[in-house]
Amino acid sequence: MDDPEQTARAVRAALRGDVGELPPAPAAAVKLLRLANDDDSDVAAIARVIETEPALTARVLQVVNSAFYGFPRRIRSISRAVTLLGFSAVRQAALHALFFDDVVGRAGKGGFDRIYFWQHCLLVAILSRSIGVRIGHPDPDALYAAGLLHDLGKVILETHGRVRYSDFLAASTNSGNPIRDDEQTFFGVSHDQVGAVVCEDWELPELICRVQSLHHCAITDSGLEEARAREVAIVSLADFIAWTQGIGSVDLVGCPLLAPEVPMLVTVDQLELPELLEQADREVTEIGGFYGVRFPSVMQLRANMVSTAIGLCRHDAPPRPYGRRNSHTAPHHSLDPDEFIPSTLEALQTEFGVEQLLMMQIEPRRRSLIATHALPSALLVPVELSIPALAGDLVHGLRARRPVLVPESEENRPLLQQLGLRQAAAVPVLNNGRILGLLWIGGGEQPLAPRLLEEVGVVAGELGIALERSRSFARERARAQIDALTRLHNRSMIDEHLDQTFVHARESGRGFALGLLDIDRFKAFNDRFGHQTGDDVLRIVADTMRALTRPSDFLARYGGEEFLFVLHDTGGSGALGYAERIRQQIERRGQLLGERFVGHRLTASLGVALYDPSQPDPKALIKAADRALYRAKERGRNRVVAAWME
Ligand code: GH3
Ligand code: MG
Ligand code: MG
Repeated sequence: MDDPEQTARAVRAALRGDVGELPPAPAAAVKLLRLANDDDSDVAAIARVIETEPALTARVLQVVNSAFYGFPRRIRSISRAVTLLGFSAVRQAALHALFFDDVVGRAGKGGFDRIYFWQHCLLVAILSRSIGVRIGHPDPDALYAAGLLHDLGKVILETHGRVRYSDFLAASTNSGNPIRDDEQTFFGVSHDQVGAVVCEDWELPELICRVQSLHHCAITDSGLEEARAREVAIVSLADFIAWTQGIGSVDLVGCPLLAPEVPMLVTVDQLELPELLEQADREVTEIGGFYGVRFPSVMQLRANMVSTAIGLCRHDAPPRPYGRRNSHTAPHHSLDPDEFIPSTLEALQTEFGVEQLLMMQIEPRRRSLIATHALPSALLVPVELSIPALAGDLVHGLRARRPVLVPESEENRPLLQQLGLRQAAAVPVLNNGRILGLLWIGGGEQPLAPRLLEEVGVVAGELGIALERSRSFARERARAQIDALTRLHNRSMIDEHLDQTFVHARESGRGFALGLLDIDRFKAFNDRFGHQTGDDVLRIVADTMRALTRPSDFLARYGGEEFLFVLHDTGGSGALGYAERIRQQIERRGQLLGERFVGHRLTASLGVALYDPSQPDPKALIKAADRALYRAKERGRNRVVAAWME
């Protein structure tokens, strides 16, 4: 959606209220943001704005009189506060009060954690300003405001969306798509587009609007002159750093990608990251203190890790600290993980004398880590670790995307036993900040040396790049067999899959079920909301089915708005249970989306048939499911019909 008018229309359509209306601007905040930073000369102007809002006046005076500033006498007037503290500090205090009370304070509970969100915005604001100061930006306060508001779109969707942001988070199935693509499917727009349109409408300063629309984009494509592009890069970098510190705006796995031009526009080496992070940590805690808010966890400052993560996004990555080794290049010798992972493990063992190595890979749909390769190979037993169930140091390490030592202790023993290790270290395998797997190093008596972790960390970085590359290769190859819209198998795969399934059933004597799903009254939906919104619904139905289907079963787009599923080793009650779960979940999504699709309930009808050994013909089975589907439509839709009960 590149056309600005089309985007603006989509944003309005995604928000509650009369069409064409956007949420009203918080007047005082907008005025404050529009005031230029002209220090002392504008004392009167800023005082006037603050004094128009009694609650805001109270907040600012509370801050000024707090122990932190330690003024000997009580300050009772805003002009006095501005004179004493300066324009910048007072404006900042006022923005916090407004942002926290008016904006974040209105957001609901549920999946949208206000405190967590506020902490993220604060950290991005503080980091943006500090980076600005360090690279000599003329107006670091403006960067602060842009950072504080960079995710405004999410709050607007939460407070004013037809579908709330927390509903989106609750329904999020970790589809593996970038989060903005999922937002696009769910709301019809993504949060940055909402933020950009609202900020324009509120007539906020140009820098703030620009950061809204571009903080997740390829900045060089925007045609901005370098100084302006750099401002966007500063906020993107601050956002990225916050995510790498485990302080994202929402609690989802995965973090935004850092556009490769960001480290070119902002020279990361000059930033003195440890000091920058320490200072930011102090400020966040202080501000939380003013508002009586205790943030979830005190930040661990991991400047080294941020540098590494940024380095991985750079095309011109600096030379590795320990020179090239075979283990560094082994991951790139093949596109097949079953070739390059074992050879990398061997190289690690030879070069570093590691006794035991165990590679686990993330299975995003099951939210778990699965053991895939090991050295010695006897170490490889079927192990699956559920990510939500992980505990202790390992979780912090994963969140922070850094290696962790897992010593033999009471707490760690069950996990170590499960893995067949005595003491261990876990090194995350990352690509662009996203965790793809975990490389375990097991040791004997001697504690594992930190230097070893660092060395293996470098190799894990290469493994991450190689894994991502092999996945995108596999995706390319599969694309020919995948429906581009829904990412399910396309029709051409169905015959092949059914032939195999029939052979298998004949040989094993085990049955299976086949079903068809058809969206109800979809033509009317398209006519009413347009074909593009119709496409969103097709994706939502496909994602819903995918989330409820075992990886070993088969899903395909059969045609227009019809889907086909094959459930292996499944009998009548299992198949009906599955079909009913899908029907209910689609109905539930339809209710969630009820305000977006006013007057139209999203539902689907399903027909299910069972394999019959006396009828070894795929076409007859599909026909039986189709007849059952027809009955479901006939009986009023939004229901499941079993062919064998007719
Ligand atoms: P019923 O409840 O009886 O199934 O009614 P229906 O309107 O869903 O069924 P019908 O078969 O009459 O209409 C199917 C519609 O699906 C017609 C077509 O425009 C729409 N459709 C098919 N493929 C696509 C697609 O890829 N995208 C969109 N947006 N619509 C599609
Ligand atoms: Mg149809
Ligand atoms: Mg239909």
